[in-house]
Amino acid sequence: MYQADIIIIGSGLGGLEVALAMAQEGKKVLVLERQVQPGGCMQSYRRGAMHLDTGLHYVGGLSESSALYESFNKYGLMSLPWKQMDTECFEEIHIAGKSYCWPQGIDNFINAMKTYFPHETDGLDKYAKLLYCTDELWMQQTNAWDYLNSIISDKTLIQVLTAPALCKMELRKESLPLFTFVHGTAPFIENSWRLATDGNAIVERLVEQIRELGGEVLTGKEVVSLEEEGGIVTKAHCLDGSEYSAKWFVSNAHPAVTCSLVKDSKVMKNIFRRRMQSQPNTHGMFTLHLQLHNNALEYFNHNKIVLPEEECWDVAVGSDLKVKAIMISARIPEDGSKVTNVDILTPMLWDCVSEYTDSTLFHRPELYMKLKEEIAAQCLDIAESVIPDLRSMVVKSWSSSPLTYRDYNLTPEGSAFGFRKDFSNPMSTIISPKTQIPNLLMTGQSLMLHGLHGVTMTAAYTCNEINKNTIN
Ligand SMILES: Cc1cc2nc3c(=O)[nH]c(=O)nc-3n(C[C@H](O)[C@H](O)[C@H](O)COP(=O)(O)OP(=O)(O)OC[C@H]3O[C@@H](n4cnc5c(N)ncnc54)[C@H](O)[C@@H]3O)c2cc1C
Repeated sequence: MYQADIIIIGSGLGGLEVALAMAQEGKKVLVLERQVQPGGCMQSYRRGAMHLDTGLHYVGGLSESSALYESFNKYGLMSLPWKQMDTECFEEIHIAGKSYCWPQGIDNFINAMKTYFPHETDGLDKYAKLLYCTDELWMQQTNAWDYLNSIISDKTLIQVLTAPALCKMELRKESLPLFTFVHGTAPFIENSWRLATDGNAIVERLVEQIRELGGEVLTGKEVVSLEEEGGIVTKAHCLDGSEYSAKWFVSNAHPAVTCSLVKDSKVMKNIFRRRMQSQPNTHGMFTLHLQLHNNALEYFNHNKIVLPEEECWDVAVGSDLKVKAIMISARIPEDGSKVTNVDILTPMLWDCVSEYTDSTLFHRPELYMKLKEEIAAQCLDIAESVIPDLRSMVVKSWSSSPLTYRDYNLTPEGSAFGFRKDFSNPMSTIISPKTQIPNLLMTGQSLMLHGLHGVTMTAAYTCNEINKNTIN
């Protein structure tokens, strides 16, 4: 039987980063991934000549003085072909026929907003302080929507300040903590980058280094149970009958899935299990991938965010099946200046697809396919308000819904960002990597923060916990 120091269940960004960090410290690591391809939300997939990304469009905070640089450098990711987005306008926000540009750099950004909204100078000064704020406990316990409304009275400005977050987090008035909002916004304003290749490059680079350091990443290995003996986990059992043992286990699967793997524990209390299995999850996403004719559309080095109804909070597509707001992202062209791949994203609730829950990948009912076509058509209608005749440029299109994410990554209800963090429930904003079973830890977006920046910080949090318990 393969004997590792640490087994990591799941090869999402968080799982691979923990594996590499531990391998760099000399530990023998083994990653077990259920899918045929590693990477979780980071993977890209091929359709004909197209490489389509799933959970990566841009990243914030990669320049040398920014938060993500040190970790990405340590993980060998800084030598990938990162390209900075347009420094004068990396987010182009369209609201009711008017457009607003976000420049990079917090001070530049605030000055630009003061030009658009000169009557909100005081509020914008307070907003600048917030973007630099490091009082994390206060931000965890504060409602983002209420706080923004307490410092700014112009409703359009609030939409402009928050619109790009609509596909980066769950913009939910009732629950979103200021902590989640600021961590998902400030690094992007500091500096924003696209990768001039697909998200798999990140995955491949991490896997390559894990292997160079003597570790292994195995795909097609769905862990179905964790065996407990003497109060610790001793073995991971996989669906194909294989089993693997280690001294430590780290789960990158959703915490509810992690708890379900430990069937008869003498150590994990039911109250912990219930908490992990009942905490609400963030909404999912609908993504429309478009392949465009060569030479049809000039590359734009920014995202376009379109809010036809002047609202970007609580706008996820619900049971009314109405698309209210979208983000459009272009992939950097391989040659020349024309775009061949554009993604349109809109948040989507599980309710939209819940009646198809029993269907499986590649065997979806006709009605579900029709629903996706209908949502795609609405996304295109809205997109054409800022890219006229976009439809006529499309060669082919593909789409994914929360059902797709549920089936690939096993996230409950196809949630895009894992657990919903709620300012009114301090237990939800930061969850410890510990599970009550001393040698079973967790990592990934549900614990603390999501996105590449958040998951990387969370991986460091998990590694720190492992190191505190000195593995030998
Ligand atoms: C549509 C969309 C767009 C996004 N765009 C961006 C963006 O532009 N920028 C950004 O910073 N972030 C973006 N994000 C967020 C980012 O992709 C995620 O926060 C991050 O990739 C999550 O990583 P993770 O490690 O938590 O887990 P995941 O990616 O969910 O990985 C978990 C892994 O565990 C595996 N697994 C689960 N159960 C088992 C089991 N029993 N046995 C073995 N393996 C198992 C799964 O198959 C999966 O591979 C986006 C997300 C979505 C959904």
